[in-house]
Amino acid sequence: MKADISFEFFPPKTEEGIIKLREARKQLALMQPKFFSVTFGAGGSTKDRTMETVLEIQSEGFEAAPHISGISSTKQEIKDLLQTYQSNGIRRLVVLRGDLPSGEVSVGDFAHANQLVSFIREQAGNAFEIEVAAYPETHPEARSASKDLEHFKTKVDAGANAAITQYFYNADAYFQFVDRCESLGISIPIVPGIMPIYNYTQLARFSNVCGAEIPRWLSLRLQDYGDDIASLRALGVDVVTSLCEKLLDGGAPGLHFYTMNQSGIISQITSNLGLKQS
Ligand code: FAD
Repeated sequence: MKADISFEFFPPKTEEGIIKLREARKQLALMQPKFFSVTFGAGGSTKDRTMETVLEIQSEGFEAAPHISGISSTKQEIKDLLQTYQSNGIRRLVVLRGDLPSGEVSVGDFAHANQLVSFIREQAGNAFEIEVAAYPETHPEARSASKDLEHFKTKVDAGANAAITQYFYNADAYFQFVDRCESLGISIPIVPGIMPIYNYTQLARFSNVCGAEIPRWLSLRLQDYGDDIASLRALGVDVVTSLCEKLLDGGAPGLHFYTMNQSGIISQITSNLGLKQS
């Protein structure tokens, strides 16, 4: 099976984390990914770590795509960041609104991601391929699924080249979302974001915050395993492999894996899928 794949990392905080990420990256690089992306958090030190991680990936000869979020940023800050990325040869960005850090009230110069996409196009023309976020199960703050879709279209109209979805475990949610996008004339590739199952408590917490639904049957089965992590992960690998198969068979243009900076479970999934290793 052949598919474009990409892998997402978060910037590690410690020397040990940096070393572990290098090892994971080495394994995942065997899949010949289209790019590795690195998340972004509000706050100075996190921003610096995104930059450091991206530049290290790039120095190893891989395409690296920093995530960049507009919330609580000024136009000048974004302009400076774009210039630094451009001068370091970065050619792809994952562009997001982000979420306000707790206690912070000012949204800054970019209330929504479409404004940031427009600003990047104004400042840098077509210097960057721009990926934006999409929500097959609807963003948790959206007033309605149709409003959320209209808002997604504003990012595409502002100049996004492709989208990566929030994770989901129901393939129909993705296919219906893509159909609804097509009916609005949206034709950019919409790549499913895939969250392997590492740990139930963490997954349930994330899903609650980001509005991703864990189907009841799956949630109950995962909870049954309790501390038996090996069995939980084995079920997770089966479930996620079957989801990826359905997505690719149904025409998804690729897969973007949320790696949590680990390679083991993803290697099992990609091997089950028969995805090519170099
Ligand atoms: P938007 O597209 O701006 O949408 C946010 C909400 O506002 C939606 O409910 C939308 O319907 C609504 N909306 C949009 N435009 C308008 C408008 N004009 N008027 C009124 N309402 C509007 N977060 C991070 O902090 N760092 C990361 O690195 C990061 N990476 C991510 C990667 C992916 C692939 C995904 C799917 C999410 C990522 N996130 C990240 C999370 C993301 O920042 C949050 O989901 C955030 O709440 C929304 O970002 P967005 O870019 O989708 O925002």
